[in-house]
Amino acid sequence: MESVMGLIKSIFTLKCPRCRKGKLFDQPFNFSNAFSMPSHCPKCGLNFYREPGFYYGAMFFGYVITSGLFLVIGLVMTFGLGMDVNTALIVIVILGVLLFIYFFRLARSLWIHMVEKYDPDVLNSETC
Ligand SMILES: [Zn+2]
Repeated sequence: MESVMGLIKSIFTLKCPRCRKGKLFDQPFNFSNAFSMPSHCPKCGLNFYREPGFYYGAMFFGYVITSGLFLVIGLVMTFGLGMDVNTALIVIVILGVLLFIYFFRLARSLWIHMVEKYDPDVLNSETC
């Protein structure tokens, strides 16, 4: 059975939703191909581009993730830690620049994990 922890780990480590072995992205944090995905999973062959514009909805996930996280960080820094608002904004901008690629990838990972089910036997059954 699919465990919730396995699902969360697969999402955050950017693994294929079906086999959870293949990587959704080629090289982690390589700026030359930071936004490119392979067309198929290197382990199980799952098509990562199910249809044209498939990842359009992932943009909204990216927006919600980044805006929600940065709102919480900003509120904690200003009201929890008593920091200046301008200092909090500078820290948030720096975090946004540093984590932009990961959040882009995380949003796509969340999106494809919503529509593709985990199949632990897929690697064993396709040995023909
Ligand atoms: Zn796979």
